[in-house]
Amino acid sequence: MSALFATLGLSEPLLRAVAEQGYASPTPIQAAAIPAALQGRDLLASAQTGSGKTAAFVLPLLEQLSRSVRRTPRRTRALVLVPTRELADQVAETVRTLAEPLAEPVKVACLFGGVSVNPQMMALRGGADVVVATPGRLLDLVERNALGLAWAGLLVLDEADRLLDAGFEDELQRVVALLPQRQQRQTLLFSATFPPAVQALARALLRDPLRIDLAVDAADPPAITQRALQVDTAQRTPLLRHLIAQGHGDRGWDRVLVFVATQYATEHVADKLRRAGIAAAALHGERSQGARRQALADFKAGRVQVLVATDVAARGIDIQRLPVVVNYDLPRSAADHVHRIGRTARAGEAGLAISFVTAATEAHFRLIEKRQGLRLTREVIGGFEPTEVPVASDPTGGIKGRRKSKKDKLREAAALAAAAASPAPAPATRARSARS
Ligand code: AMP
Repeated sequence: MSALFATLGLSEPLLRAVAEQGYASPTPIQAAAIPAALQGRDLLASAQTGSGKTAAFVLPLLEQLSRSVRRTPRRTRALVLVPTRELADQVAETVRTLAEPLAEPVKVACLFGGVSVNPQMMALRGGADVVVATPGRLLDLVERNALGLAWAGLLVLDEADRLLDAGFEDELQRVVALLPQRQQRQTLLFSATFPPAVQALARALLRDPLRIDLAVDAADPPAITQRALQVDTAQRTPLLRHLIAQGHGDRGWDRVLVFVATQYATEHVADKLRRAGIAAAALHGERSQGARRQALADFKAGRVQVLVATDVAARGIDIQRLPVVVNYDLPRSAADHVHRIGRTARAGEAGLAISFVTAATEAHFRLIEKRQGLRLTREVIGGFEPTEVPVASDPTGGIKGRRKSKKDKLREAAALAAAAASPAPAPATRARSARS
């Protein structure tokens, strides 16, 4: 058992839980967040996926539950809000696993939309101590009187930036109105990025929060190597096949997460890889929950080598060893890029993030680099030398008399990137899958 974990204020059963997980010492976010949360402070934590942030809030949450009195029937005492069902699944699983050694069993309910509500209603019978939920389905279940939130004195917002990106702002406000008031509640907010909307949310929800900002002054930045490969749009799948075949570079290409822009592209690219004899699966929002789970399970178990996913579908995926992430299509924003490359180099492992940059997406990639304060050397792989000419004109047309804002530029670059995204699906599909 780690001496360092033992200094954070956790009780013996939770120290055992941590040891059973094989966590030797707390990650920086855990070392900062756990003692403060145990003292009842609100937290505003900047934390990337892969930093150990889940345990950073689950451990104090469980410690507090184990210290408080349980009533019959059970009352929901802690609520974790997450943007996606995958993340809900993963957080709920972490709560269950870490709660195992506790004397009193902890009942966890995992609630998310897109599946039948009935099993979730059943799961809430007799109450749940901890609820992990996406906001929409949670409200739905509250309206059906399946649970109440008046006793939920601990609120965690996980991936708050994503919650807002996913359009959950109204639902969030409605959920918060059902909870004990700010003064009677402890709120822990975790986010990879802090755009103004997240800052406003933090001001509205938190009371005198401790700000934990490890991302900027991290003494030990995650060991992610980023590479930018120049390639023609039509050559990206052959290049991907080549990289996989060669196990290019010095890292294991046995588990590769490939990001594309649209649902259509996930299927298309996965299909092409399969036809080349590579075990590949597509992960996107329109696949059934069962199919998504299966794809993830196959990927985790190594039955599938390449998972081709959209941003939303891949959000929060927790895979212990994921050495390589490929931006087949560039992310729409620098924030998305941070989330994507956060999939690799988890918990101290080295990772490689490769971006395919085409003539049409070069300008967009430059903006992403700028946001990261980074400039990568453009590499060309032998046999895949680009021939496309850079796009100089502005196809979206600027607004006359007005200087382009950063947002305008990002939008234009994203439009260019989308236009270049392979291969063009029907317009309706593309519009819908922009958020898939
Ligand atoms: P997260 O940032 O919560 O998604 O966690 C990323 C990964 O790190 C998960 O697979 C955790 O199981 C693992 N992890 C969390 N805390 C630790 C720790 N203290 N030591 C080693 N691994 C950890």
